[in-house]
Parts: sequence; C-alpha cells; structure tokens
Amino acid sequence: MAINDLRPNIGVLAEQVSGERRVALVPADVRRLAKLASITVERGAGLEAGHPDEAYVDAGATIADRLAIISSAPTVLAVRAPSNLSSFQPGTVVVSLGGRDEDIARAASARGLKHLGLERLPRTARAQAMDVLSSQATIAGYAAVIEGARALDVLLPMLTTAAGGVKPAKMIALGAGVAGLQAIATARRLGAVVHGFDVREAAREQVESLGARFVSAGEALKAQEAANGYAADQSADEQAALRRALASTLAQMQLIVTSAQIPGRPAPLLIDDETLAGLAPGTVIVDLAAETGGNTSRTKPDETVTTSGVKIVGSVNLPSLMAADASRFFSGNVRALLEHLMADESGLQLRLDDPITAALLGVDQTLRTAA
Ligand code: NAD
Repeated sequence: MAINDLRPNIGVLAEQVSGERRVALVPADVRRLAKLASITVERGAGLEAGHPDEAYVDAGATIADRLAIISSAPTVLAVRAPSNLSSFQPGTVVVSLGGRDEDIARAASARGLKHLGLERLPRTARAQAMDVLSSQATIAGYAAVIEGARALDVLLPMLTTAAGGVKPAKMIALGAGVAGLQAIATARRLGAVVHGFDVREAAREQVESLGARFVSAGEALKAQEAANGYAADQSADEQAALRRALASTLAQMQLIVTSAQIPGRPAPLLIDDETLAGLAPGTVIVDLAAETGGNTSRTKPDETVTTSGVKIVGSVNLPSLMAADASRFFSGNVRALLEHLMADESGLQLRLDDPITAALLGVDQTLRTAA
C-alpha cells in the first residue's frame, strides 16, 4: 500500500484447513473493489483456485505474508474462519464462514474481533447476491451427482448399443433446497429418472418444474416451513414416521443424494439401519449433511462407508473440489457484501440498524434460526 493511500485496507488470507482449495476473493473482484479499498493478499492464497500471485498484482493487489496481514489489515477475508485468532488486532473485522460455530464466536469475542459469520446472512431479496450458502450449495449439489455417478457400478442414462441396452438409473434427492434442486437438475442432464422429496410443500413445484417426480410422504408428515424459508424442526415421532414412509421408494433407487438440514440443529435422520438393509446392493448415497451428523445412520464425515453393499459417501466439502468456480461464486458474494458495507466510500461501516450487518454479527439471529 502506498503511504498516501487513504483507502481502507482489506486482507485476503490463504486457507489453512487441509483440503480447502477455495480463496475468498478472486482477482476479478479485487479489480472491482479497487476504488473502495486497497487489497493485500497472502502469498499463494489463490493458487489452488487457479489464481497465481501475479494475477492479483495485475488486478491491483499487494502480496504479503500472513502475519503482516493479520497484524495490520482492519478487515480480513477468508473462506473458513482462521483457527488461531490470537495474532489478530482487537477490533479487526473478520469475514468468513464459521457463523454457526460457537467456539469461533467465543474466540472472536475474547480477542475483541468482529466476526461477520457468513452463514448468518438473512434470507432476504436484498442479501441474495451475498449468500455464500446458496452459491456453495449449488456447487455441492452438482458435485454430489458427479461423485455419486463415479461411485456407481451402473450408468445413469439409458443406452441402446449393439452390445445390449441399459435402463436409466433411478435417482432421488432427499431435501430439495438449493443443493437438492441442483442435484436433481444435474442427474436429469445425465439421463437418470429423477425424484425429489422435501418437507416443505413449496419444494414440490420446484422439483416438478425441473422435470422430476415429487415423492409424497403421505400422512407421515405435515408440510413444514418456518417463517424464514427454512424447514421447521421435526419431532422424533415425525422423523420416524417419515423414515418408514420413504423406505419403499428408496429401495427402488440406485443413487440417493441427501441434503436435508435444519439450521443450527443436527441433520434429520432420514435413512436408518432398517432402511439401509432394504436398499439394493450397489446403491450409492451421497450425504451432503455429513458435517452436521448426516442424514443416514452410518454416514462418516469425509469417508466412504460400505454397508450391506450400499456405499455412503460422506463428503463434507464438495465445493472445494471445484475450487475455481466455487471461489468465483464465493468471491462475488463477498464483494457484494463489501460493497454494501462500504456504500458511502468512508470505509467499512458496521451499523447495527442495518439488518444484514446485525445478522452477520450475530446480533439478530431471528432471520436465520428455525421458528
Ligand atoms: P438447508 O440447506 O437448510 O436445507 C436443505 C433442505 O432440507 C431444505 O429444502 C429443507 O426444507 C430440507 N429438509 C429439512 N428437513 C428435512 C427432512 N426431514 N426431510 C426432507 N427434507 C428436509 O436449506 P437451503 O437449501 O439453503 O434453502 C431452503 C430454501 O430457502 C430453498 O428453497 C431456497 O430457495 C430458499 N432460499 C431463499 C433465499 C432468499 O430468499 N434470499 C436464499 C437462499 C435460499
């Protein structure tokens, strides 16, 4: 940063979690933010996402070491919340995931940091462009089908060849939110016969508009949607009834993508041991809820478990596999947020009367928790 540069500085950190290949800001967004801020990028931060340091320099950023950034930049960006916050200056604004992690909230508060936890963004039209959960879930839904197709021993599309024919495989998405709908669209493109299920009645039309069949749980569960657009929490009895209602449909599937989540709660159990025992050997389940406990009784985060011939893929960070596009989306969301927070060119403004800022700081949780 030049000595007479009065623009506020924003630091971009390299990721430290093993296997995390994304970067929080890509060079195209550095260029777009240059009027509002000077940007310093940790050496090598964008390499895994396809952006060498030179690309950041060309876009107007400065390259620096981690310690220089965290000890001086008033605003720091990362994909995952930095695990060690002890070298940060009190008052630093940290923008990253980790907004539902109480340990991070405690550590940030003990150090006097302001953590804008991106999962806490309100689900409003105004905040849509900043919604990393949606952008990353889109990639996870796509990647889940690609991973599932690789793990299957059968083909997804119908094929008629001189060597014989194959029927199209059957696929179902359990949870038809952002990730589930993208999984449905991807499996359709690959030629599978596709089904979808969700507890929110609004999902029926979305599933059907993609050309998939909506599976009804019959009387097992009344449609549930909280005021914030997320699913409402279900009782243990409702979940058990739902599992029994779904079992016979699941027994006919070859690929199952699960992404059922209730914000702030463990993932609902949709596939228990009894259902697993009834699935056809060779069935593949890709469980996108692995990080919050999983939608099956045998899911292990970051592992593939085989039980009675059924493979359960417990991928926890599929967006990182597609690091270039995942970073492009994440960065676009973060840029939109920074533009919102720096709207009047006097630096980053954290005003608690702004619903987006209040929610990100964890001051107003009402928009993000199930009613
Ligand atoms: P999510 O990741 O919290 O949950 C995934 C899905 O799991 C949801 O559709 C939920 O209804 C479903 N689910 C929960 N319990 C279930 C169960 N027992 N069985 C089956 N399904 C279950 O949610 P998400 O995908 O991030 O978003 C949910 C909805 O919110 C989407 O329809 C999306 O269109 C909407 N949304 C709105 C905005 C906005 O207005 N700005 C932004 C993002 C998403």
